[in-house]
This record gives sequence, structure tokens and C-alpha cells, in this order.
Amino acid sequence: MNKQSQLLEMKITENEAALLKCATSYAVEYLEQLSEMPPFPSEESLEKCSLFEELLPEHSCEASQVINLLGEHGSKMTVAHTGGRYFGFVCGGVLPVALSARWIADTWDQNNALYAMSPIASVLENLCERWLVELLHLPNHTAAGMVGGSSVAIITALTAARNAILLKTGWDVHLRGLFGAPRLRVIIGEQAHSSVLKALSMIGIGVDMIERVPVDEQGRMRLECMRLPDANTLIVVQAGNVNSGSFDPIDEICQIAEKVGAWVHVDGASGLWAAASRRTKYLCKGIERANSWSTDAHKTLNAPYDSGIVFCKDRDQLVRAMQASGAYIEYSSARDNMLYTPEMSRRARSIELWAILKTLGREGVEALVDQLCHMATYFSERLSDVGFIIGNEVVFNQIIVQCESQATTIATLEGIKKSGVCWCGGTTWFGKPAIRVSVSSWRTDEEAIDLCVDAFISARECARRNSSK
Ligand SMILES: *Cc1c(COP(=O)(O)O)cnc(C)c1O
Repeated sequence: MNKQSQLLEMKITENEAALLKCATSYAVEYLEQLSEMPPFPSEESLEKCSLFEELLPEHSCEASQVINLLGEHGSKMTVAHTGGRYFGFVCGGVLPVALSARWIADTWDQNNALYAMSPIASVLENLCERWLVELLHLPNHTAAGMVGGSSVAIITALTAARNAILLKTGWDVHLRGLFGAPRLRVIIGEQAHSSVLKALSMIGIGVDMIERVPVDEQGRMRLECMRLPDANTLIVVQAGNVNSGSFDPIDEICQIAEKVGAWVHVDGASGLWAAASRRTKYLCKGIERANSWSTDAHKTLNAPYDSGIVFCKDRDQLVRAMQASGAYIEYSSARDNMLYTPEMSRRARSIELWAILKTLGREGVEALVDQLCHMATYFSERLSDVGFIIGNEVVFNQIIVQCESQATTIATLEGIKKSGVCWCGGTTWFGKPAIRVSVSSWRTDEEAIDLCVDAFISARECARRNSSK
């Protein structure tokens, strides 16, 4: 063996088991500290960035040194989404069984593309598809693809929609592309998520082509303001407004769409899971009438990141839109996962997803959804009791919080972010600044919320004191 390959051999195989054990103990230590951790790293911790800043290393070093750097210092610069006091964006924690399953899955390092590359990934993805369709009350035989997140799920679904609509007019996108194709109509709500606009632009729909429907005070599409769709129309509705958590009138819109044969896509990144609970199912009324759906398991279901799901009622339409071929591709008679997603090689996301569904079962998923909703209600009631203004009807997991003046709201939010107790993002709600609270982690309990309410009160006191100076 020459000198170079000896070096590589040594670096790579250097005590693999010891390295993994070291990583595991850092991970366990992290979890043990989670309940005390600030949800956002302190200024002091962020100074550790400098430990990572260096030129590309010329020489190799011990792998254990690298893992130590992450374990000792990288961990201090993390955002504790997975703790119970982080309410920023719409994130979601991680269930212990999902994390454990992910460790195993990562060790297996399966390529999820084909059955021939991973029978276990194929079997579990097939099961997840069936179970999720049943859990969310989608039509029988709906197809599902496991993607990185809702953004990709939406692009995937809208590609299938575009192709199917154009095919009805006799235009085959696979053969003829988009130049010169008949025009589609696209209808979305004024508060559709930015990922919907991105997806539309990626499938060839310009902003000027989009018909935007005005919304009501909760951010829901106003049906009476929607121009009637035709057979060449794609409508995107929202299950879970990114600020208020509200749901568009999905049932009514689907009924109108059905009459003319328009395609309805449901962006249900966080809200589609409402369908899994008897208490919140009413919010998703009519979703089974839509043509495609997208959701994130990494939000409400508390799967680790990189877990979005696209559903399409017509399996062939999804598969046709995602088709790929190559002499070397060995399709099997079992499920080949790459048929359902833009990606070919990818990790086997269904391993964690299956682990969650198998552990929780239907009743456990329902309990998780109910718990998040309960905590959001509890949080909003406590805030309201101490004089904060709640700007939305808290129907799901989102709360919009404001103070008596815009300046106080802004300063209070800054104070909350600096508190080290709780972290929330900001937003603009009908032109006014607001604090946005998303209850998305299974770890959030009433005790955590009580601490956070105190942090809100202190931040507001401080804001009021400063403004009266
Ligand atoms: C989070 C979210 C998205 C985007 O999801 P990613 O997983 O971040 O790509 C899309 N729509 C809504 C309503 C969301 O809440």
C-alpha cells in the first residue's frame, strides 16, 4: 500500500465504534440539557463561530477531534427547536422514537430510489403511503411521495397538475414543452405561502398570470371574491395559514372546482394533520375532494427535518410527471420510490415516518395534534388574561399577539428574543407588526408556557418603560 492510501485507511477506519459512541454521548448530553437551554444561542455562545472559521484544511486530523468540536461547541450554537420554548416560524420538535429511528436509518444509509437499492425503504414507504392516506382521510389509492419538505412537495404536485390540465387540452408537456402551450389559469389566496409562488414560477407560471383572491380577517380566501374557475384552472388552497393557522373554505372551493373539472391543490404544511383528529377534522372538511395535497411531517408530526410529503389522487398523473428513464434503472414489481418524487437518490425518510406512525398509531397522532392545539389555546388565553391582544381565532397551533401600540409590539418582541426563555418570530398582520407564536413541539407543556408568559410580561414592561423615557 502506498503512503497516500495508508493515510486514508487510517483516517477513515480509525475506531469507528468509538467515534459513534462519542457522538451518541454528545447527543444524549444535548437532550439532557435541552430543558435548560436558551431557545436561541446567547451572544457569548455565538462567539464560538470563530472556532469554525478557518481556511480549507490542508492536512487530515483525527476524526474524534472533529466530533468533539461539534459536540462541545457546535451544540452551543444551535437553536433549540426541539425544546418546548421555541415558537418561531412553524418548526416542530422531534419525537424520541423518530430520532432513534433516524439514527438507525442513517447508519444503514439506504438509497431510497429503487426497490433494488433498498427493499426495507420500499416496504416502509409503501406502508406509510397507505397509512397516511387512511389517517388523513384522503381518497383510496392516493399516491404519496416522500420529499424534503412542503416546498418540494408543492412543486411536485403543481407539476403534476400543470401537466394533467394541459394534457386535457391535447398538449403533452413531455413532448412539446411549455413554449406555445395553452394558457392555464391559476387561483391562489392573497395570503398563500411564499413557497407556492416559488413553485408556480418554477413550473412556468408568472406572477402576472396569478389571480389572487382577497382574504377575510383570518386570512381565509373569500369565496365571493373568487372568479369562477374553468377546466384549465389550478386552484391552490391553504390548510393552516402561516400566521393565523386558519383554513380556507376548502369544501366550498372543491365543490365549485369539481363542477368544471379544475384542479385543487391543498397546501397543508402544518394543517393537513388537523384531519387526523376528531376535534379538528372539521377544519379540513372537503379535503378529500381535492386532487393533490402537500404536508410536512417535520412540522406537526414532529419528525426530524427533511420530511415533506406530496399526495396525488391520480397515481398515474404523479408518476407521469416524475418519470425518468435510463437503461440502468431496474424497476421492480414492488414499489420504486423514485417514481413519485423529483429526486432519484435520497435518504429513506419513510423509516422515521413509519416509526412515528407505528408507535403513535391513530390515537397517538390524534393526541399529538390535540396537545399542540390545546397548548396554543392555553398560551393565547394566558396572554389575553394579562392584556395582550390576540389577533386571530386560535383554531389550530398559531397565535398572533400584539400590544397596545405598534412600537410596544416591536420592542416586546425584541425583548422576548433576548430573554433566553422563549423565542418567537415577528410578522405583519394586516399591516401591523405582530408577534407570531407557533406551538409545534410535543415538548411544550403548560409549565413551559407559564415561563414564557412571564417572559412576555417582562419584555412588555421593559418596552413600556423605555418608551415612556
Ligand atoms: C412551512 C410551510 C411551507 C414550506 O414548507 P417547507 O417544509 O419549509 O418547504 C409551505 N406552506 C406552508 C403553509 C407552510 O407553513
